[in-house]
Amino acid sequence: MLLPLGNLLKSATGSIKRHDVFKDEIELDEFDIVSSEGVLWLTKINMGIWANSKIDLTILCKCDRCLNSYNQRINIESDDIYYNFDYLGKNPETYDRIDSHEFFLIKDNMIELTESLRQNIFVNLPIKLLCDLNCEGMDKNSKKK
Ligand SMILES: [Zn+2]
Repeated sequence: MLLPLGNLLKSATGSIKRHDVFKDEIELDEFDIVSSEGVLWLTKINMGIWANSKIDLTILCKCDRCLNSYNQRINIESDDIYYNFDYLGKNPETYDRIDSHEFFLIKDNMIELTESLRQNIFVNLPIKLLCDLNCEGMDKNSKKK
């Protein structure tokens, strides 16, 4: 998910741009995202852009017990800094962190949110995926029929 920054980088520090996430906006290879809804706030800071998001996602998942597909809803909240090349040039000590998974850069006046969203989904998905907390699994279901 690439988000253009418009004039935000040229704006005064503290300027905020709001982006409403639309239904089909978030796409990731690993997940079948049915819908997304939420808000992203982009704040201009010294280092670049501070991105905060609050997004509700509905993801098509497979139940660990009965193996049926179901819609799993999760809320994700991200809080990331996207660094400006200019800032990095003046602050070489930050170079050490460039290879880390949580280090994001602004490219061509856009930020790429996919990696942050992916990490957030993994963190927020339940460890056990269940279509229903009381799902009785395949055996029970077949016995009922
Ligand atoms: Zn189930």
